Formats: sequence, C-alpha cells, structure tokens
Amino acid sequence: MSFDNVRGRSTPGRPSRTPQVSGTPSVVGQLGRRPDGTVPFSVEFNPPRDEAAEARLWRAAREFERMHPAFVSMTYGAGGSTRDRTARITGQLARETTLLTVAHLTAVGHSVAELRSIVGSYADAGIRNMLVLRGDPPGDPLGEWRKHPDGVEYAEELVRMVCELGDFHVGVASFPQGHYRSPDLDHDTRYLVSKLRAGAEYSITQMFFDVEHYLRLRDRVAACDPEQGAKPIIPELMPITSLRTVQRAEELSGRALPESVMRRLDRAAGADPEANRAAVREVGIEIATEIAQRLIDEGAPCLHFITLNFARATTEVLTNLGYTVTPAVVSA
Ligand SMILES: Cc1cc2nc3c(=O)[nH]c(=O)nc-3n(C[C@H](O)[C@H](O)[C@H](O)COP(=O)(O)OP(=O)(O)OC[C@H]3O[C@@H](n4cnc5c(N)ncnc54)[C@H](O)[C@@H]3O)c2cc1C
Repeated sequence: MSFDNVRGRSTPGRPSRTPQVSGTPSVVGQLGRRPDGTVPFSVEFNPPRDEAAEARLWRAAREFERMHPAFVSMTYGAGGSTRDRTARITGQLARETTLLTVAHLTAVGHSVAELRSIVGSYADAGIRNMLVLRGDPPGDPLGEWRKHPDGVEYAEELVRMVCELGDFHVGVASFPQGHYRSPDLDHDTRYLVSKLRAGAEYSITQMFFDVEHYLRLRDRVAACDPEQGAKPIIPELMPITSLRTVQRAEELSGRALPESVMRRLDRAAGADPEANRAAVREVGIEIATEIAQRLIDEGAPCLHFITLNFARATTEVLTNLGYTVTPAVVSA
C-alpha cells in the first residue's frame, strides 16, 4: 500500500454535536446521529503531489465542508517532501476550515524523538485527533518491515506514546479480513484489542467489499474484550468509479476485489471499457451504495469514504442513501 501524502470548530448555523473532552472535540464525540437522523459520514484525503492536485483537494474539502462530515482525515506517506506538504495541508485544514481534522501518524522511518516532534507540531496546529499507525515499508508495502533503530515496532507503542504526550484523541487501524502480516484472525484480533487498551478510542477499518467481514470483525473484538468491543469500529468504503480505481482499491486493501463485484464491473465494461466508462462508474456507485446501506442497517457508527480527493462519487452515494447534500458543482 502506498500513501504519498485539532481542533475542530463548530459549524456556523448548526447546533454543535461535539461533546468536549477537556475542551477538545473528538472523533467519537461526533458519532451521534446527525440532526436529520442520518448516520454520520467522514472522508479521507491523500496528500497531493503538486499544486494542481492540491487545488483539487481544496475544492473537494470546501464541497465536503457544506455537507458537514463528522471528520476528515489525511493520510501520511513515506516520502520526505510529501511529508512536509502533508503536515502543512493538514494544519491548514484544521485552522482554515470548519472540518474536524484527523492527522494520520505513522512510525515508518522516524525515531521516537522525531515522532514526538511531529505530534508537537500537530498540536501547535490545533490538531488533537490522530489515527496512529505503524505504516508500511516505503517502496514495497509488502516488503520486509524494518523498524527505525530508535523508533517503535508496533502501532501499540505509538498509541501509548501519543496518549502520554497530552490530551490527544487516538484512533487505530483495524482489518476485517485480518492484517496480511498477522498469522491468523485470532492474533489479529488480540493485537487490535491491545491497541484499544493502550488508549485508542476507536478504529477505522481497511476498506472491504463484503460487509460480512466487517460484521465478523465486530463480533471477534466484542468476544475478545467486551469493553474494547464497545468502542466504535468505523467502516471504510471506496466507491469504484473506473477500472483504474479497481487497481487502486486492490492496492489499498491489499486484497483482490470479490469475484461477484468484479463480475458486475466487467459486465458494465463489456468489450469496450473505454466507451462504457459511464456504465462502469454507475455500477461502482451502485455497489458502494449497497454496501453503505447494509452498514447503516447493521448499526455502523459512521461511514468513512476514501475520496482520492474528489467529492463527486461520495456525494452520489450519499444522495442515493437519501442524504440531503447541499447542491453544488462537485468535482469529478
Ligand atoms: C484506515 C487506515 C488508514 C491507514 N492510513 C495509512 C497512512 O496514512 N499511511 C500509511 O503508511 N499507512 C496507512 N495505513 C496502512 C497501515 O499502516 C498498514 O496496514 C500497516 O501494515 C499496519 O499498520 P497498523 O497500524 O495496523 O500496525 P500494527 O498494529 O503495528 O500491526 C502491524 C502487524 O503487526 C502485528 N502485531 C501488532 N502488535 C503485535 C505484537 N505485539 N506482537 C506481534 N505482532 C503484532 C499485527 O497483527 C500486524 O500484522 C492505513 C490503514 C488503515 C486501515
């Protein structure tokens, strides 16, 4: 998987749904039903590579701002210059928008001293919510993991460190089909529960296309530790908008898409995928809508969308689900 990549403020004109924890809005505090009764949703951005991509991200951020997501998160990559850009944009999202901003923090390539300094600079930017991750080896995500000589081995240690550093709200990653380095689902569940016990308040899952995997993860965590099992497990979704995004989804999830999903997309693509792009997109949005509806029916606390820095696909899924989204010209 490759990721080259606060304090929230109340939204004018809306009652605040944000319980204050020591004065700081938290992700978990945002997870009650929205004023119109709909389930909260949130969005994930990736650090843009250049100025044009950054402008696109800002267009999407402004469009989402009008739709009142529970929070937005910004992934964190391994590249040096991208990391600087990431930190700058994450800080700007927190300071210059009404969006509750979650910074992803990864252990890859950092000593403990550097990690402390990054947390400190996020705190200076008003960011108090962090998704704490180990990260993957740069270049080849499936390659051998080597901890920084003065760094941490597992996300759990980083969770402890961030919690000790101050009044931060920490989330962690969870894996409906198990993390690919876990020997089995039992170990995977126990490691997730350890991260939650270390101080994480919730987890966000890796994306999936079979809701059963999410439901079984929820069952496993609850069976392993009912107290930790009561913490929100936020499902991550990615609307497929083209056959190219299928490849991206497989990279991000580390898994092939289920055959049933591929069959529907391939049928829409037919013999001429280029000519049938609109049909592929329509089916992709339909699939994401079905997954999201089932998650709502099963009581998911929030729907977290991978956006690839575009607002349109997420908006279409939400509209299909009956959300009222402010009419706007949304980015592709
Ligand atoms: C929602 C989400 C967002 C993400 N965002 C980013 C991002 O912004 N940037 C990025 O680089 N990556 C990101 N990732 C990918 C993530 O960093 C990788 O999947 C990584 O390989 C695992 O991270 P982790 O935090 O779960 O690691 P860990 O929890 O440390 O787990 C790593 C492996 O070690 C095992 N393990 C954990 N604890 C122990 C232990 N005590 N003893 C033995 N084994 C143990 C786990 O089962 C797992 O196999 C994201 C993933 C998700 C689901």
